[in-house]
Amino acid sequence: MAQKKSILTAYPDYEVVIGIEVHVQLTTKSKIFCSCKNTPEAEPNSNICQICTGQPGVLPVLNEQVIAYAVQAALATNSAITPLSFFDRKHYFYPDLPKGYQITQQYLPICEHGHVPIRLEDGSTKNIRLRRIHIEEDAGKNTHVKGSGESLVDLNRAGTPLLEVVTEPDIRSADQARAYLKMLRAIVQYLGICTGNMQEGAFRADTNISVRKKGTSELGTKCELKNINSFKYIADAIEHEIERQILLVASGKQVKQETRLWDNKQKITIPMRSKEEAADYRYFRDPDLPGIQITNDYIATIKNRMPELPYEKFDRYISSFGLSAYEADIIVEDLERAKYFEKAYALRPSKNIVNWFLRDVLGYTNEHNIFLKDFLITPEKLVSIITLLENGTVNNSGARIIFDTIAQNGGNPVTVVQEKGLQQVDSSDQLEEIAERIVKANPDVVANYKAGKDKLFGFFVGQMMKETGGKGNPHTIQTILKKLLDS
Ligand SMILES: [Zn+2]
Repeated sequence: MAQKKSILTAYPDYEVVIGIEVHVQLTTKSKIFCSCKNTPEAEPNSNICQICTGQPGVLPVLNEQVIAYAVQAALATNSAITPLSFFDRKHYFYPDLPKGYQITQQYLPICEHGHVPIRLEDGSTKNIRLRRIHIEEDAGKNTHVKGSGESLVDLNRAGTPLLEVVTEPDIRSADQARAYLKMLRAIVQYLGICTGNMQEGAFRADTNISVRKKGTSELGTKCELKNINSFKYIADAIEHEIERQILLVASGKQVKQETRLWDNKQKITIPMRSKEEAADYRYFRDPDLPGIQITNDYIATIKNRMPELPYEKFDRYISSFGLSAYEADIIVEDLERAKYFEKAYALRPSKNIVNWFLRDVLGYTNEHNIFLKDFLITPEKLVSIITLLENGTVNNSGARIIFDTIAQNGGNPVTVVQEKGLQQVDSSDQLEEIAERIVKANPDVVANYKAGKDKLFGFFVGQMMKETGGKGNPHTIQTILKKLLDS
């Protein structure tokens, strides 16, 4: 994760203050206040009704699944659950909001005062405090048709349930922001309440950034970064924004309060709109919806179906499997990774499984943009390859050939060994004979080696590998060569 040095190292008197709001799109079957299918990506306006299109005289009915998901999120983030919370109307005018107001929880959110643990670069843990998590409905989507002067409105997304997760201004760097977002996304994915897909907008982060002199408690003027759909771009945008703001403040200029976008071509943030005055949303409690009462019994029921959470998995991987924090971090970050890894490790709890998973499985699938669930090397096949390696049937380069072959074309590891003749040459007699031949054929190299050029040992190993077509057992080869050369 080593990036270019942050500007903060050149301006040690300054610090950055970051707070993040994330919209988590819930994967309930139906929308929040009607029985329309919750499939925002479907054919435009294919899942709409009188309620989610805001027709007069209709009444919203709350989807219980939304409350269950919100309580799961509250428990996973150690939040205090509000025993009786309410919905409020937030009024604004926009074509994708036919009711003229959005139903949200302004005054009494479903939960408050939680925290999300993140791991810092130095290995320590920091809790990012959450101010609140509240439930709200999403609006529809406008598409502006280029050149036509027309806009199209798709209301499939109107009424999709969201959780808005709001932090306290606890984040102090781009790396911390990225670690927080990764952990929060992992939590909602593990809970099974959100796909976490940022490209599709299922997990959207708005980041508030300001800078100030260290030691002051007052906050500087903040800018908001919006609509950035990858962790890397968010971190890059924050880094750029910190630099821009510090250079302004340090030269005695003022930061203007505004919303900014990330221009990934120029690698800079650009202004979108100024935000000098707070909009008046004329909030008031929604009279059509009753309060949400959460009893202790209900909380206990939800607690019973909580899965193991990413930070719990992280601890278990370190304490029970002996993984390093770095290794555990990479695996727990994504639920599919954790599932694949645990399946393989349960079948063969060896360090080779950890190494081959991190280096080869993740390396290959990232490089070729393959989802783990579609990868031709299943956990069982990876275990089979590692078993062939560890029981001496093939050596490391043989295992690599099996891996690449199956990754590209599928197949069975044992069959690949036979088809490609990868069986390791492990017979001492055979290897001794080859070694003697090589030593005899290279008297100069032997003399130099014996005169103290230890590095030349590698030359003999290389020759042996060449002679065995890369299939010699490296360990046996080393033992035989040592005996021959060092005598
Ligand atoms: Zn509907």
